[in-house]
Formats: sequence, C-alpha cells, structure tokens
Amino acid sequence: MNEVFRVAIDGPSGAGKSTIAKAVAKKLGIDYIDTGAMYRAVGYKVKQEGVDVEDTAALQAMLDSTDIDFVKGDIILDGQIVNDVIRTSEMSQMASKCSAIPAVREKLVEIQRGMGSRKSVIMDGRDIGTNVLKDAEYKIFLTASAEERAQRRHKELLEKGEAITFEEVLRDIEQRDHNDMTRKLNPLRKADDAVEVDTTGLGIDQVIEAVLKEIK
Ligand code: C5P
Repeated sequence: MNEVFRVAIDGPSGAGKSTIAKAVAKKLGIDYIDTGAMYRAVGYKVKQEGVDVEDTAALQAMLDSTDIDFVKGDIILDGQIVNDVIRTSEMSQMASKCSAIPAVREKLVEIQRGMGSRKSVIMDGRDIGTNVLKDAEYKIFLTASAEERAQRRHKELLEKGEAITFEEVLRDIEQRDHNDMTRKLNPLRKADDAVEVDTTGLGIDQVIEAVLKEIK
C-alpha cells in the first residue's frame, strides 16, 4: 500500500492522545509526530537560555537558531535528545505559555506541515485537524473528564518521581484547558469533520480499537 494519508488527533491535556497515537502508528507502520513535545522543547529552550518571551526580537532570534526534529521516536532539540527533560509539570506550563505566542506557533506549524507533507503520519496536538493538517484524511477528537485526565497524569508524574498532589495536577489541567481553549491563535476545538471519542472509563486497548475502526 503506497497511499499517503494523514491522521490528526486533537484533544485536551491528558486525554491519552500520545499513548493512543503511538500505538496506532505502530499498528499502521507510519510515523508518529507529537506536536506537544515540540512546544515543550521550545519552552525548555526558553527556560535554559533565560529568554524573555516578551522581548519579541530576542525570542525570534532564539527561534531562528532552533532546530526540532524526531528521529526514531526521540525528540531532538538542536542535536540533543530531550525526551525526559521536557516531561515535567514545569515544562507543561512553559509549553502552554509559549504556545500562545504567534512567532512560536508560526515556526512550529511550518515544521509540522513539512513533516506531514511527505509521508503518512499520525500527528497529535490541539490544532492539527483545525489548522496544521486541515485536509487530513482522518480526524479524531479525544476527550475524557478533567478528573480522569488528572488521575492519569498524576500517576505518570508520581512514577517519574515528581512530588505533586492530585489537586495540583487537576488545577494544572484545568488551567491548561482554559489557556488552550481561549487563546486567540488556533485554540483547541473539535474540527467539524472530526470524530469525537470520549475515553472516560475506557481502557487503552478499547480506545486504540475505536480509533483504528475510524481509520479503516
Ligand atoms: O500535549 P502536551 O501536553 O505535551 O502539550 C503541551 C502544551 O503545548 C499544551 O498545553 C498546549 O498548550 C501546547 N500545544 C499547542 N498546540 C499543539 C500541541 C500542544 O498549543 N498542537
């Protein structure tokens, strides 16, 4: 099968997008692109270099010298693998903050479109079906209740050794939902032609099956 197709998966933080997208990519033998990781990588670099995001010129200079790519499932920022350092709650907040800045979105959306133009991919994020890959062949909007999403994220962070309470994670999720849905530029919303899958109470395998059914 040589046909090129794109799968867009959007939804709020903690809905299970990356777990599901990764598994579906493996099943279909196509590349997985985690756009949230790209916003996190920018947030990480801003923090590392102490860039003032209000200083438009300094931010643009940083972005112009930033290279972000995926190689065999690893996210590479300027030649370094940053898989783990971007997965902290601090970097979640940094990513959310940076993702509202037009210059950041412009840079990342351009890279993402390039990645989705050459081969079959499954890409997850907030604005894939509505903006980045508007003409994707398949669009899924994954949701779950805020409590369930916070429980999943809390478990993940505890397993990584972060000392954080469930209430803090829930607050963070609600804050990011608010930021993502109310920002002016490409806010999180379900594309009119996306299929909504509510994962509340569903196991991973059930969600993978539901998504694969839509693609087939
Ligand atoms: O998906 P993840 O939680 O890793 O994304 C981190 C942050 O990046 C989100 O809170 C969101 O603000 C931002 N993001 C975005 N657009 C995307 C993907 C992520 O604004 N396509």
